Amino acid sequence: MFACPAVPPSPPPRIDRPRYEVNVHVDSDLKEVSGDLTVRFTPNRPTQRLVFRLWPNGPLQEREGTRLDVGDATAGGHTLHAARPDPTTLVLRVQLRAGETIAVHLPWRLRVPLDARDRVSRFAAGVRLGSFFPILAWDPRRGWVTDPPAKILGESSTTPASDFDVRVDGPSGMEALVSGTRVGTDHWHAHGVRDVAVAVGRFSVFTAIARAPRPVTVVVGVARSAQVEGPNVLRMAVRALERLSRLYGAYPWKTYTVVVPPDLRSVGIEYPTLTFIGASPILRVIVDHETAHQWFYSLVGNDQARDPWLDEALATWGQLQLGSGLPGSIATSPSSEFQHVGSPMSYWNTRQVAYFREVYGGGVVALASLGQARRVNCALHHYAARNAYGIAQPGDLLDALNRIIPGAERRLRRFGIRR
Ligand SMILES: [Zn+2]
Repeated sequence: MFACPAVPPSPPPRIDRPRYEVNVHVDSDLKEVSGDLTVRFTPNRPTQRLVFRLWPNGPLQEREGTRLDVGDATAGGHTLHAARPDPTTLVLRVQLRAGETIAVHLPWRLRVPLDARDRVSRFAAGVRLGSFFPILAWDPRRGWVTDPPAKILGESSTTPASDFDVRVDGPSGMEALVSGTRVGTDHWHAHGVRDVAVAVGRFSVFTAIARAPRPVTVVVGVARSAQVEGPNVLRMAVRALERLSRLYGAYPWKTYTVVVPPDLRSVGIEYPTLTFIGASPILRVIVDHETAHQWFYSLVGNDQARDPWLDEALATWGQLQLGSGLPGSIATSPSSEFQHVGSPMSYWNTRQVAYFREVYGGGVVALASLGQARRVNCALHHYAARNAYGIAQPGDLLDALNRIIPGAERRLRRFGIRR
């Protein structure tokens, strides 16, 4: 009989985490979003620069017509010297000692294309906005993270847990759904999250309380033009949150919002405390997968360009614990087909189909090869607790697996998984 060792309490978010104030104005024709942000940033080591990532300028989104422009960045009344080494990177010149705080103001403007496949898109009577404003790419363990953007559908963002104070002002008659907790008309707070997402549009909204195990307000917003039963989605989201919290530890935030735009089809996109879910026949699988990302990506972050498997394999594993199966073509494949699970996005850039098959499916095959699911779940619970609010590396997961399943690291090597 296997008993999982007691899981220690998880650490709170770092005291020196970035604090953002973000203003978002959605134009009445929904084609443009303008805004500005002020961020208070305190590095834990000296640095001569600030690196913001402008993810809407990645190659996939640029082709769809998305563009994020920035204005002059200022700090203490002075304009900071800015460089743009590539379309997704803004570098500001500063001089900061470890522990010294700078407050930077940065205006920005975003072009929103119609019916895009990716994170920024305009649909009938609404917009969805993910990875849409300039964001600091700081890892307290490694410093600035300057990975290139993915060339296929997939994230490459790495950001520290931060606090966000967000105001969203949209066209009259439209509603905003935002990561975090609503604290006033058009005003939200999100604590200890590594990003925030926003949807503005005409939604049917349904709410319930989940016990995860603390009470969590679950909000489902279904775009009026999406053919989906909101109460069904609400039940799925509550069930996923409650069951995953029993496996991997308490859901630490007070809200969880699921937005169903009309145009996502069989895709989901995860953000901290808010996910976009496609109106699809496999909607439940998507809800389970994206909700599992609340533990693997949202609570425990990772470098999504260097180690995409670290959140995708674990979210797929978590999804399978809720009852959905792997596609037969993966479940019946010999495990020798999956030798590159641990590869970076730069490897997958020319292999979109193999990326999903091997990182998501092969990652699960690799974990299943370790034996009983309850042992893997125990290790993942310890991993989530120890690395909460941090940016994990493969070694952190392997350490957790090795403690519960001796030899796990050695057995995962044939899948291309290494620290
Ligand atoms: Zn995923």
